[in-house]
Amino acid sequence: MAEQEFDYIVVGAGTAGCLLANRLSADPANRVLLIEAGGRDNYHWIHIPVGYLYCINNPRTDWCFRTEADPGLNGRSLIYPRGKTLGGCSSINGMLYIRGQSRDYDGWAEATGDDAWRWENCLPDFMKHEDHHRLDAGGDADAAHRDYHGHGGEWRVEKQRLKWQVLDDFATAAVEAGIPRTRDFNRGDNEGVDYFEVNQRSGWRWNTSKAFLRGAEKRDNLTLWHSTQVLGLELGRGGEAGGGQPRCTGVRVERGGKAITVQAGREVILSAGAIGSPQLLQLSGIGPGDLLREHDIPVVHDLPGVGENLQDHLQIRSVYRVKGARTLNTMANSLVGKAGIGLEYLLKRSGPMSMAPSQLCAFTRSSDEYAHPNIEYHVQPLSLEAFGQPLHDFPAITASVCNLNPTSRGTVRIKSADPRQAPAIAPNYLSTPEDRKVAADSLRVTRRIAEQPAFARYSPEEVKPGLEYQSDDDLARLAGDIGTTIFHPVGTTRMGRDDDPMAVVDARLRVRGVAGLRVVDAGVMPTITSGNTNSPTLMIAEKAAGWILGGA
Ligand SMILES: Cc1cc2nc3c(=O)[nH]c(=O)nc-3n(C[C@H](O)[C@H](O)[C@H](O)COP(=O)(O)OP(=O)(O)OC[C@H]3O[C@@H](n4cnc5c(N)ncnc54)[C@H](O)[C@@H]3O)c2cc1C
Repeated sequence: MAEQEFDYIVVGAGTAGCLLANRLSADPANRVLLIEAGGRDNYHWIHIPVGYLYCINNPRTDWCFRTEADPGLNGRSLIYPRGKTLGGCSSINGMLYIRGQSRDYDGWAEATGDDAWRWENCLPDFMKHEDHHRLDAGGDADAAHRDYHGHGGEWRVEKQRLKWQVLDDFATAAVEAGIPRTRDFNRGDNEGVDYFEVNQRSGWRWNTSKAFLRGAEKRDNLTLWHSTQVLGLELGRGGEAGGGQPRCTGVRVERGGKAITVQAGREVILSAGAIGSPQLLQLSGIGPGDLLREHDIPVVHDLPGVGENLQDHLQIRSVYRVKGARTLNTMANSLVGKAGIGLEYLLKRSGPMSMAPSQLCAFTRSSDEYAHPNIEYHVQPLSLEAFGQPLHDFPAITASVCNLNPTSRGTVRIKSADPRQAPAIAPNYLSTPEDRKVAADSLRVTRRIAEQPAFARYSPEEVKPGLEYQSDDDLARLAGDIGTTIFHPVGTTRMGRDDDPMAVVDARLRVRGVAGLRVVDAGVMPTITSGNTNSPTLMIAEKAAGWILGGA
């Protein structure tokens, strides 16, 4: 028996879900329910930027998934963080504000046959919710800035509040190696080097819960159920008017230890992320028929693309031991250094505790074969063996590089019909010759930068992967040893044309063949963006909100 009915049910209060809940409930006539499996975002480490290190792999804030052993990573399995709290991944992510390249969105328009996805038609959706620091009173915006950036929206973008000489010099070395300086990565062509801009406000993390939910939560027509896991979708058959196709009528949830059903008069919108949304579809009988039958799940709609097409950026982390530089390794490994870091944050909200996990950014090409930047750098004044392990006890930096347009494809597939069991996540990194070649070449680009005069003054020693490795084969294999996710899974419920059998949703993000159901999250990207994926996901949600409210 349904206990309650709403017009819209949004599943997942993450990046996309918080924006959607805000926009859909702006009209008091809409009764909106937002459901989140995780708890409130009241853990202090969510808000102190460096606390990202303590939120990852912490069950209070993370689903704590792991990948399957990955052949491209020489059999390693990775931790695969996904935010589980209000704000979702935006509560535990690196806060880096990057939109990608115009060609990414033009590619989506080609893939769907819908010009709504062209860059020029996405730009207004990025700008609509933006609050860019350079447009503040007294900001240093140039004349063209207003053509690309918004001000006064909910999504705050700021400059980082830190300075690292060793990173300034790495940036100069990048310029010496032929990468131009840029002041703005977000105008459609992101080639260049500069510090990242971040989603922070005055030195605190700015997640989507603060941005979109806090104010909206007071509305009488928005109901928030946190600490409530959605177990599956309620699916019926539409009448003759609906052509007899399946219709999503609500969701089943576990709330306070009880299983209950809630109904949606208009739509259920899945915003459970690129892992959670395909899992829920499969559990509910919408997915590859063979997989569902394997788990004795009745096939409601055979949709073979659900959980396929997983794409992610693999970051390949070169570590350089340096001489004569201040790095976080040495500061954080001494008591005086630690005290100084704490004090600087307390007094000024600046310094290492205000630090996003990566500070310096560069977009460039792995080789002349590429007409556009196909690799991205995240450079950090620190080094460690692996996430979760202590910093090295010697001064070092990490230059992490990732292939922006990988051709490897992975999968997300349920392991059982039990919603509490994590799905099998198999990214299949480095599984194509092109990805292995880009990995090898990008390590060579890192070496070229490190050799330049501006950086050579630190006498850099390549600790990882090690200069003894030079051939394509060796470098690709080593990339498998030192590579790890940069946390950007997308594509598992991808959009596409009506005649594309592997498309899960249409260009307006409606699940193909099922009425009353949309997916709005990072999973709908047909191809991964050339950059970090949070703000592109917000753009998707902004566009979708317009369609949902407009009845499209
Ligand atoms: C550690 C980390 C660092 C990152 N760094 C950056 C960065 O610096 N910049 C950047 O642009 N991107 C970054 N990303 C990626 C970016 O944050 C994501 O691409 C983006 O947040 C995805 O948004 P989403 O709405 O698709 O999913 P999410 O934000 O993951 O939201 C999904 C929500 O659904 C909830 N949910 C899932 N299943 C259920 C269920 N069954 N019932 C109820 N609720 C459910 C989840 O708990 C979650 O809150 C990072 C991600 C991580 C994890």
